[in-house]
Amino acid sequence: MSVVVDKRKCPQNHKCPAIKVCPVGALTQEGIGLPQVDDQKCIDCYKCVEFCPMGALQQSEKNEGNRK
Ligand code: SF4
Repeated sequence: MSVVVDKRKCPQNHKCPAIKVCPVGALTQEGIGLPQVDDQKCIDCYKCVEFCPMGALQQSEKNEGNRK
């Protein structure tokens, strides 16, 4: 997994705006719940990580230091 969603930071009370910045449609959300990352689709661009105003989308620790 390259991106994780921190449920302590995501308020889960709105449509996730980061879904729109993902170039490959890897982010999905049911209603206003916690967004999900599709690891098969994610290309590790971290646009969502930079975009999320709550800092809820985070680079997973596995890839720390590996950032392009
Ligand atoms: S890192 Fe890039 S490809 Fe992966 S979910 Fe975030 S915006 Fe989409």
